Amino acid sequence: MATKKAKAAGKFGARYGKKLRAIYNKVFETSKKQHNCPVCAREESVKRTSFGIWECKNCKTKFASGAFEFRKADFKK
Ligand SMILES: [Zn+2]
Repeated sequence: MATKKAKAAGKFGARYGKKLRAIYNKVFETSKKQHNCPVCAREESVKRTSFGIWECKNCKTKFASGAFEFRKADFKK
């Protein structure tokens, strides 16, 4: 059972070390988080669809950004 403290890395159990599990949690959370769209300015509409590909569900714009994190700085006008 995944505990609260272990978060997403709880599936690893006691394996792979504390630091690595902490990194995994951070990456998992940023990749699952929804982000604000830099095109239509709608909040929390950009989701990760694939490796480095992010899509806005509102205006259907696709973005190429970080593999596991959405970098808004890439799309500043
Ligand atoms: Zn949009």
